[in-house]
Amino acid sequence: MARRYLIETHGCQMNFHDSERMAGLLEQAGYERTADEDDADVVVINTCSVREKAEEKLYTRLGELRLRGEETGSRPVVAVAGCVAQQEGAKLFKATNGRTIDVLVGTQALKRLPLLVDEAVARTRSEPLLDVSPHDDVSFPLGIARRGDPLKAYITIIEGCNDFCAFCVVPYTRGHERMRPVDDVLADVRQAVATGAREVQLLGQIVNHYQAPDDPSCDFAELLARVDEVEGLERIRFASPHPRHVTPRMIEAMRSLPKVCRHLHLPVQSGSTRVLEAMRRRHTREEYLDLVDRLRDAVPEIALSTDMIVGFPGETGEDFEQTLSLTARVRYHSMFSFKYSPRPNTLAIRRMPDDVSEEDKTARIVALQELQKRVQGELHAAAVGRLEPVLVDSRSRRRDWELSGRTSGNTVVNLPGSADWVGRTIPVRITGANPNSLRGEAVLDAVASGPYV
Ligand code: SF4
Repeated sequence: MARRYLIETHGCQMNFHDSERMAGLLEQAGYERTADEDDADVVVINTCSVREKAEEKLYTRLGELRLRGEETGSRPVVAVAGCVAQQEGAKLFKATNGRTIDVLVGTQALKRLPLLVDEAVARTRSEPLLDVSPHDDVSFPLGIARRGDPLKAYITIIEGCNDFCAFCVVPYTRGHERMRPVDDVLADVRQAVATGAREVQLLGQIVNHYQAPDDPSCDFAELLARVDEVEGLERIRFASPHPRHVTPRMIEAMRSLPKVCRHLHLPVQSGSTRVLEAMRRRHTREEYLDLVDRLRDAVPEIALSTDMIVGFPGETGEDFEQTLSLTARVRYHSMFSFKYSPRPNTLAIRRMPDDVSEEDKTARIVALQELQKRVQGELHAAAVGRLEPVLVDSRSRRRDWELSGRTSGNTVVNLPGSADWVGRTIPVRITGANPNSLRGEAVLDAVASGPYV
């Protein structure tokens, strides 16, 4: 009987795509997927270390697996992958007294996972198995990935980052920036479309820093133009861009290319120039706001989202007021906001005392989230009555007739409809607004290719 695997994923889209790759590799090696932990011979935990809380989840999970092993006398082979594996390496074995983790595989050594897991399953070695070598090839064909979503494909175009923002572990866990050849990226897009994908999401730590290593004329804007030409593809998304690499060419591509979604995730992290400088973000509040204005001039209907950190070392009440005023001015459609926590190796942990009290961090995050909730509610209410092209991506598990999809601006829309609409882009009249989603009704005689509103 085939051995079964289960992958648990924490963190960003890059991690979700890595899990798809690991699933593909394990299936190529003869493993079968299971959703039931009791049935799994192998549990892979794909970890995130971007925030302290995300890292804590790993230890909680390992504790559960150890307990299960002690109670039942058996447990699956446990493989830890992702950023915490890369960051901590062999120290993780020690932290768990060598009792719970059988395999450790870093972000750049995924290809070795099946081999290491095979050895651990067969118990051909008594000691835990480890590969956290920092550099590997990024030209990983999508053919190996087992896509979690049949309609949407993640395609990595850049791996790693050279920016070293003061709070961020990514340059330490993902290594230096490497770009994939444009021909490989386009081949992945065509293959994804040929196997049912309607939408691709191009991934990179600074995705808009792309410059094809095999074609000097292909920057990020040109890549978008080439992907836009792929027949059968309906939508292009990308994550995450850095504000300072949003060029006039990229704005023009977002304005003119019909498949590029009218949504931009534009991380800002703080509304205060002083804090942005301490964070080494390399742009000011004014430059960011000027960029937002230029984007909205070119693409008036664009939906913006962002990442925000509160309580970065040295952040004063006045700095935080600037974060609030920037949020009120930009009016984001969504926001990921976090309390600062010091991360290993970073400039901030080495040189900047974590001097904002927990009480202040909590008060600030509550105030910011309340403001964002209000803005989001107003934007959703304003959408009622509009006609939106919605790519229907799923059917409700509870109610057969209820479908769910996303607008070009990336807002979830729930609507009644027929199961055979899944995978189609249909015109939807927005009829109601909830805090995190919209409700709508399909307008079947309207033209789906009209202006994105
Ligand atoms: S740009 Fe900054 S925040 Fe983004 S991955 Fe690189 S170091 Fe991290």
